[in-house]
Amino acid sequence: MTTRHAVISGASIAGLSAAWWLRHVGWDVTVLERAAAFRDGGQNVDVRGLAREVLDRMGLTDAVRAANTTETAAVIVDARGRVRAELPSDGPDGATAELEVLRGDLARILLDGLPDDVRFVFGTTVAEVEHGTTADDPVTVTTDAGQVLHADLLVVAEGVRSRTRDRLFAGDGEVDRRALGVTMAFGTIPSTPSDDDRWRWYNAVGGRQVHLRPDPYGTTRAILACTSDEALAGRDRGDTLAVLRARYAGAGWQTERVLDAFATSDDVYVDDLTQIRMPRWHRGRVCVIGDAAWCVTPMGGGGAALALTSGYVLAASLRPGRDVDTALDAFDAWMRPLVDRIQGIPKGIVHFAYPQSRIGLAGRAVADRILTSSLLRPLIARFTRVADSDRPLPPMPDHVGSTGR
Ligand SMILES: Cc1cc2nc3c(=O)[nH]c(=O)nc-3n(C[C@H](O)[C@H](O)[C@H](O)COP(=O)(O)OP(=O)(O)OC[C@H]3O[C@@H](n4cnc5c(N)ncnc54)[C@H](O)[C@@H]3O)c2cc1C
Repeated sequence: MTTRHAVISGASIAGLSAAWWLRHVGWDVTVLERAAAFRDGGQNVDVRGLAREVLDRMGLTDAVRAANTTETAAVIVDARGRVRAELPSDGPDGATAELEVLRGDLARILLDGLPDDVRFVFGTTVAEVEHGTTADDPVTVTTDAGQVLHADLLVVAEGVRSRTRDRLFAGDGEVDRRALGVTMAFGTIPSTPSDDDRWRWYNAVGGRQVHLRPDPYGTTRAILACTSDEALAGRDRGDTLAVLRARYAGAGWQTERVLDAFATSDDVYVDDLTQIRMPRWHRGRVCVIGDAAWCVTPMGGGGAALALTSGYVLAASLRPGRDVDTALDAFDAWMRPLVDRIQGIPKGIVHFAYPQSRIGLAGRAVADRILTSSLLRPLIARFTRVADSDRPLPPMPDHVGSTGR
């Protein structure tokens, strides 16, 4: 049997999981990454639901546990930092998940767990994709550097703003982008003695939130999240920070500290939350996975868990003896219910989560206390149980063997 070859575009959680599992079942794998070097950045993500089992089957749970952010609980605070409510964090899928990790640490653990023979090309993107006319040459990928790669499958794992997806699918209206009207700026800031091991969440009028979370490196991870009708992702850094400073004027609590620190941090990541919906995640020998295919946004939660799970499900679907078209249909059918459940964010949730007026904020504070009361905690806990299913993971063909990098 000839070895099948996958080209994967994007070396983050989805791409690395696909690389790991496709190599595991015997595929030859080449990963293309636009960034000049491996990307270590990013803030908290969590491994929830089925992704815990995927990680376990990769033998990487202990490594992720060791990289834990050290966060122990999640609380809502007022302008003086007093705790007003505590979100349920008991169990593996609480507000602070059992496997809570920084995105860069998770990506690094996946990278280090890959066999040495997975090839990486950094600083490159897909320039052209041509479908072959024979079964022996199903897809030809030409990179922007002119490298020509013949493959049995191109996996597009380029994140929410994937250009290759847009080029290959958007022309037929198959990429539905839904802006949620929320912008988030994530960044690493110096710790102060007032920081502790809890995720502290502050709401201010005008649809503004400030979050401070511990990390394992003695720094603090901050998030500014606000309703916004102005797109900030991809804009000039100085410009973005100026908009945020104006937007957060008078917000209170530790806002000024975060804004001052973001001005000098080299690790600020800004995202205008956008859901991606596609009726099909594959065409011919091209398959889209992770945020590129179904971005659920931090508002839905579970994006990293879905990305991790999708690499497993893709490789399991492509089991030997099954043709690629049937396998990609099976992948689509298996992943869709998981994704749909998260993307169905209840109507009005943005309004509830980001109150604009003083009355709205007061109402939110009352709701927080009621919803986190011992009576309703189990109900609320269901919202953080995402990327999970009663279905077992599809069976994986036999292990072909791998050695860590
Ligand atoms: C640097 C970084 C920081 C992040 N920080 C956070 C965070 O703080 N909080 C949070 O909730 N989520 C964050 N995310 C997003 C989070 O990783 C994803 O929501 C989730 O893990 C799903 O991952 P993904 O692999 O599908 O997409 P992503 O993690 O977005 O990864 C996409 C990868 O594809 C690469 N890429 C993009 N375009 C191309 C192209 N044309 N050709 C080749 N490669 C390409 C990107 O450089 C990236 O490595 C971050 C992502 C990145 C890349």
